[in-house]
Amino acid sequence: MNLNDKPIDNILVSACFLGKRVRYNGIVQTLESKLLQQWQKQGRLFSICPEVISGLPVPRPPAEINQITNKVITIEFVDVTQQFTNGAKQALHLCQRQNIQFALLKESSPSCGSNTIYDGTFSQKKITGEGLTTQILRQHGIKVFSEDSIEELAELINSSDPTS
Ligand code: SF4
Repeated sequence: MNLNDKPIDNILVSACFLGKRVRYNGIVQTLESKLLQQWQKQGRLFSICPEVISGLPVPRPPAEINQITNKVITIEFVDVTQQFTNGAKQALHLCQRQNIQFALLKESSPSCGSNTIYDGTFSQKKITGEGLTTQILRQHGIKVFSEDSIEELAELINSSDPTS
């Protein structure tokens, strides 16, 4: 196979980074990044909000992963583990359908966090941990990055890009 036949790497991206109104509080928070804009122009991005695709509304009560039970519980004490798990699986299926090996997901979210999450007590305290979507993607070999490690993702993609 000619090197130039290698397809460019696609990237799964948190839908909220692209300015979609999917966040729990309904507030749009676009990730301002030249790299993201460049990848979007190149047609590499596949966006998903695991929580919205699983049927949760916008806005919705904030949820955190309880560190004792490992369940995702809203601030109103509703167990939404099933919806979060379903959204994570849908993100994985999208990656498998599109042959996506890389993901850029929002840090600290109970779905998308890749290094930190909130500690489950709704006290704004962060701990080391992963959201449910990140967990399932990593279990299947997909490399997950956050807005804090976007440069690292760019380096990895450039090193495997035959056109760069
Ligand atoms: Fe963004 Fe992920 Fe939260 Fe959806 S679940 S709003 S994509 S961080």
